[in-house]
Amino acid sequence: METLEFQAEARQLLQLMVHSIYSNKDIFLRELISNASDALDKLRLAKLQDGLEADTSDLHIEIEVDAEARTLIVRDNGIGMTRDEVVELIGTIAKSGTAELLGKLKEAKESPELIGQFGVGFYSTFMVADKVTLVTHKAGTEGHGTRWESAGEGTFTIDDAPDAPVGTTITLHLRPKDEDDALYDYTDEWKIKEIVKRYSDFISFPIRKGDETLNSMKALWARPRSEVTDEEYHQFYRHISHDWTDPLEIINMKAEGTFEYEALLFIPARAPHDLFQRDARRGLQLYVKRVFIMDDSKELIPDYLRFVKGVVDAADLSLNISREILQQDRHIQMIRRRLVKKVLSTIKDLMSSSPEKYATFWREFGRAVKEGLLAEPDNHKPILEIASFATTHGSEPTTLAAYVERMKEGQEEIYFLTGESRSQVENSPHMEAFQAEGYEVLILTDPVDEVWVDVVPEFDGKKLRSIARGTVDLKKDEEEKQPEGDFGPLLGFLTEKLDERVKEVRLSHRLTTSAACLVSDADDITPALEKMYRAMGQ
Ligand code: ADP
Ligand code: MG
Repeated sequence: METLEFQAEARQLLQLMVHSIYSNKDIFLRELISNASDALDKLRLAKLQDGLEADTSDLHIEIEVDAEARTLIVRDNGIGMTRDEVVELIGTIAKSGTAELLGKLKEAKESPELIGQFGVGFYSTFMVADKVTLVTHKAGTEGHGTRWESAGEGTFTIDDAPDAPVGTTITLHLRPKDEDDALYDYTDEWKIKEIVKRYSDFISFPIRKGDETLNSMKALWARPRSEVTDEEYHQFYRHISHDWTDPLEIINMKAEGTFEYEALLFIPARAPHDLFQRDARRGLQLYVKRVFIMDDSKELIPDYLRFVKGVVDAADLSLNISREILQQDRHIQMIRRRLVKKVLSTIKDLMSSSPEKYATFWREFGRAVKEGLLAEPDNHKPILEIASFATTHGSEPTTLAAYVERMKEGQEEIYFLTGESRSQVENSPHMEAFQAEGYEVLILTDPVDEVWVDVVPEFDGKKLRSIARGTVDLKKDEEEKQPEGDFGPLLGFLTEKLDERVKEVRLSHRLTTSAACLVSDADDITPALEKMYRAMGQ
């Protein structure tokens, strides 16, 4: 037997669990069932795709309770883990952004949303147990299995388990019953039933206790919307997303005919902490005729909609489909186009049906959505239609349509200025003449704004125009024709002095109070973009 230490982050997280920062401890069972269900999916898939020899005739999850011994057992006959996997998967937290998140967690102890984003999973067992034993045997490996045990403090032990069957058995040694305030105990039959029904009813494998199956196993996406409660959708969302916060919007899709598929999509209510991290998990779950095929199918949804969670169940794909094939599959590309269209139109509907939800959506995900302007030229219009931007017209963001409504008599272009912050943009010398003349200017401060404005020529027939570039037409090109008059010698002097640094020195109407400002040519890159490229080392 070996005694090992938990990795530092894992230890911190366990600490938080032992001191129970969740007010709702019931979720430990949901987490165990969710892991068991994943393990069963994996075994079925390994047999299907890799030809692993395994008995998959009765894949199931079993719950056993012993009130006398105060133990609760969750057992599955799924894929199991090797010894190395147990050490790696249970002893460490391999997820990105962990340290950062733990910092936040400790600041805000009562913040289930944060933990939810994090998906504490297996460790949540230590909220209700003072010792946890895990015995597992990986399918397809000979010999013995592995036994892991811990009291959730600094260390765990690991040992051989000679007779362990294929799959995983987790035994919780429940904390002493609190006689004073607990209305229930996790050894109560009704309590177990209630938790399973509430959190895990949709799990597609039977969850058994004795001779009874506790869940209905109905695939949520296959049921008519009117028959599913919000609570059921929310639990399913948690199962697939590990996000504690209820989703902002639920989308059902069903296509019949030559190519059949069903989809159940969720638009989260908040951005995950790793929305802008390269290695973050993204993509949808793919099922074929109710059989789970893979997680994180990036092929089903473009990167700029990577925050969308959900399931696609396609009827006509092969169960053996691989990621490589997925990338080229015509049907998958078609589904993807339809999903994009549906997501964008759902957001558009929100704008009128629920402006508050829309505002939340845009605040959380707008920066990602705007990447779509670069990725999908065909979708410029629907993306711009759901976009909103900070503006000199008041403190609330505006849509482009609303901007166009407000355009002044004779104004033909949509004016914007990019920069690092609202105040920087507002105080820019470029802004002076526009402010003085009462023109509205969009204030674009996201890094991605620097880039998409170069590839999006217009909206609704109106050109998008940076007020920092070229000559702006406020006074019908007078700028160009302005007689130099008394300023001739000064301009000559400045041109000579600044020779290396500027192309030209000219008089301008652009300014009202500042003496001078730097302007780029219409097709030069903006100063902020120049800075961004420089920061990227280009
Ligand atoms: P998550 O499920 O979000 O990955 P967990 O803490 O719940 O995080 O589980 C960590 C990992 O341990 C899982 O990803 C899985 O690889 C492994 N694991 C947990 N429970 C089981 C199980 N019953 N069978 C096989 N592997 C499991
Ligand atoms: Mg889990």
